[in-house]
Amino acid sequence: MNNGQTKPAYNLQIGTENQFITDFMLFPNPTDTLTMIPFYSSYSSRYDRLPKENCADAGYGSEENYAYMEANGIEAYVKFNYFHKEQKKAFKDDIFRLENLYYNKEDDYFVCPMGQHMERVGTVHTKTESGFRTITSVYRARNCEGCPLRWGCYKSREAARTVKANHRLMEYKQQARDRLTSEKGLKHRSNRPIEPEAVFGQMKYDMQYKRFRHFGKDKVNMDFAFFATAFNIKKMIATMKRAA
Ligand code: SF4
Repeated sequence: MNNGQTKPAYNLQIGTENQFITDFMLFPNPTDTLTMIPFYSSYSSRYDRLPKENCADAGYGSEENYAYMEANGIEAYVKFNYFHKEQKKAFKDDIFRLENLYYNKEDDYFVCPMGQHMERVGTVHTKTESGFRTITSVYRARNCEGCPLRWGCYKSREAARTVKANHRLMEYKQQARDRLTSEKGLKHRSNRPIEPEAVFGQMKYDMQYKRFRHFGKDKVNMDFAFFATAFNIKKMIATMKRAA
């Protein structure tokens, strides 16, 4: 980076259980969202099964990932982008947020803070970077002119407010919310810092494994495979010593 620091070349993903490294994969893309499904394919070919549960942070909470986990029977304890924010008072009290508007599923309309029905006016079909198709429904109020709440409701110059809702994603988020706030979900969340995060901490700070020693994906794969094997042997000996 011309300042003595180096740029990360790979996004290393690891799976852990009881602080043992169960799988790893290296990705050239910096964001985590698109790494989850290929990582599961790798896990499945290595162990001939998929995990029953997954606990991961908000970087993995996309519609595509939730859909994949549901289709493959994986119970998802996976946060989404505003999971923590929505539990704050300011979020809950914001009457203008889409998440806080009443939605009538049967007749498919939202109700705005002034009680006006926002009817469905269109549907947007999009494709993500990986080819996954999403459907977003568009709703519009009939008339916002002269509304005393106009100041806080929306910023655009349009005569009436428009909102967009991805219902399938909203349902996945509700399912994730219910799971993450359940007793089991709270246990998973409290375990998360002592699972992959603790393993990364031990790798980087206790064992000083902060850089790969080779160049090129194949060599770096081999580099980390040796490291992970040694890491697991070390962990196994420590566990056996504790149990003795
Ligand atoms: S500005 Fe429009 S959408 Fe917003 S509260 Fe008023 S009437 Fe409802």
